[in-house]
Amino acid sequence: MQPIRTTCAYCGVGCGITAMPTGPRSVQIKGDEAHPANGGRLCSKGTHLGETVGLTGRLLHPMIGKRRASWDKALDLVAKRFRETIDRHGPDSVAFYVSGQLLTEDYYVANKLMKGFIGSANIDTNSRLCMSSAVAGHNRAFGEDVVPATYTDLEEADLIVLVGSNTAWCHPIVYQRIQAARAARGAKLVVIDPRRTETCEDADLHLPVKPGTDVALMNGLLAWCDQAGVIDPAFMAHHVNAPEGFWEHIRAGHDLWSTAKTCDLAPALLQQFYELFAAAPRTVTLFSQGINQSIRGTDQVNAIINVHLATGRIGKPGAAPFSITGQPNAMGGREVGGLASTLAAHMDFAPDNVERVGRFWAAPRMAAKPGLKAVDLFRAMGEGRIKALWVMATNPAVSLPDAGRVREALESCPFVVVSDVIADTDTSAYADVRLPAAGWGEKDGTVTNSDRTISRQRPFLTLPGEARPDWWIVKEVARRMGWRNAFAYERPADIWREHARLTAYQNDGARLLNLRSQAIIGNDAYETMEPFRWGGAPFADGRFPTPDGKARLVMVKQMDVQAPLHDWPMTLNTGRYRDQWHTMTRTGLSPKLARHREEPLVEIHPHDAQALGLEEGDLARVSTPQGDSLFRAALSEGQRPGEIFTPIHWTDQISTGGRTGLLPRPLTDPHSGQPGFKSTPARVERQ
Ligand code: SF4
Repeated sequence: MQPIRTTCAYCGVGCGITAMPTGPRSVQIKGDEAHPANGGRLCSKGTHLGETVGLTGRLLHPMIGKRRASWDKALDLVAKRFRETIDRHGPDSVAFYVSGQLLTEDYYVANKLMKGFIGSANIDTNSRLCMSSAVAGHNRAFGEDVVPATYTDLEEADLIVLVGSNTAWCHPIVYQRIQAARAARGAKLVVIDPRRTETCEDADLHLPVKPGTDVALMNGLLAWCDQAGVIDPAFMAHHVNAPEGFWEHIRAGHDLWSTAKTCDLAPALLQQFYELFAAAPRTVTLFSQGINQSIRGTDQVNAIINVHLATGRIGKPGAAPFSITGQPNAMGGREVGGLASTLAAHMDFAPDNVERVGRFWAAPRMAAKPGLKAVDLFRAMGEGRIKALWVMATNPAVSLPDAGRVREALESCPFVVVSDVIADTDTSAYADVRLPAAGWGEKDGTVTNSDRTISRQRPFLTLPGEARPDWWIVKEVARRMGWRNAFAYERPADIWREHARLTAYQNDGARLLNLRSQAIIGNDAYETMEPFRWGGAPFADGRFPTPDGKARLVMVKQMDVQAPLHDWPMTLNTGRYRDQWHTMTRTGLSPKLARHREEPLVEIHPHDAQALGLEEGDLARVSTPQGDSLFRAALSEGQRPGEIFTPIHWTDQISTGGRTGLLPRPLTDPHSGQPGFKSTPARVERQ
């Protein structure tokens, strides 16, 4: 038997994997040497995927309440309750909350059902928590949500700037590629991050920036480039529009000294970075959750893109801003319009787009406006405005900010459906109906990684119990709601071709996402599909998908950073551990991965620990106005004084402590709706 070529279940790097089954529920995993993302490499999480394919904790049968039910009975009930709720309260009284773990085909069918047939855009995704500020920033600057970089650009750059990203832990194969390229070409590496993480260990420069001051730092860089003659006047003149007053704004108040003061950085350190940037036309600025997960995330994204546009560092090899995504298919979700704020195929809710998509789908009731974004959606549920919810492949009772309030909302919702691979999650505790979904190794479809490479996920395990693919579950509900013909899919390839046709439908080149050649591929070609990247080399011709073909600088201003509060004098930042993923439902099954960090730690600067009477290994209670939880104290010089860090992974199912989700504020970025997980006012006490 030949190994099956598939894609990793975890992060947005999207590494190719070869899987050789060695028994009914066991598999040997290797990196796929032919995959362009990883060339055979795998990080610890990917390497140990074989330890996670057992059936421990799996949901194997449909459940209504605590009782096992047939698929027919469960699907009939879901369709009936959604139909009744819509008839009584209107389409906006129901919602789907989906996930970057879904495959593109799953995402497409769920999006079509909600936006084209139910007639509401109340379908949002946990990708809202991950990179929706990058989406909003791309749309503002480029006119379309296009990531204009590839992993190869990292290897062709002379300078790589990592902003708000612990790449060594969160995107390990990208970090390995960066390190290999540096060894080969001598590229410089600058890390901008309040914490001194493992990513900083081998960097040429680390800027421990004050959280929330990235706009000032990037505006200061632009002012420096302006003074140093690094702005590209020809590129600006032909390819970029600047709003009135933009340059006056940049030139006033963004000198080196005042920027260093705002960012709490030594001026000499800042100057070193600015000089490195000015001297390196081939620069890639890679950014991740430290930029996106902020109540100013979209402005921070645009501040980075502004610098690249004004210096002409875009659309050329080794020169681009690069948003890297967290989840395996956050990008595929974006392509089919999986966010409440976007329509399918990278379209927005402009009336002609609504009409176009409605025509393509022959939709009886098209959503005409954006729906509720994740935080607002659960708030609306708490207020009684959402009366039926379907959660697919995610755990909002843990992962959304102010998770205690989210649980109250779930409790109050009259009808909750959860489709998942895991039987008992913090969210499924509130479900009226649980539907067993196919897991990694059983699913069949496509994913898009951070550099726009589309790859196949292929099954190599038989579906256990009565588990079914997500696309099948959604289409069966749609058919029971009365839309039999519009959801007559027999296999993922049927959905893929329809999605590809929609990207090309009446698309005269106005959108770069265009999968025209995929719209007619046969089932065999779908099965044997090789990884490919859409969009070619975006912006290489200097044209952007805006009405006048020019990119847009966005005037972004540094807002005041909240001063420490009397009762909450510290600042909490949150993030991932190297060997864990989200709420540990999969990585928690691997004993080898558990060894890296066996319990949740609160990292704190030794000076702060001393002032609080905390010693290494003490139990410490971290409190915020939203909630509190216990962590083990870890003293770290890598923390800025006054700031602490906790991991996102631990849940009720695992321990009583380490519940980071209870702590952040439910505040969101005004443009993207992405929650600001970073910079929460907090307090630490010894237990
Ligand atoms: Fe999987 Fe990401 Fe690791 Fe690659 S880098 S093996 S995609 S977790």
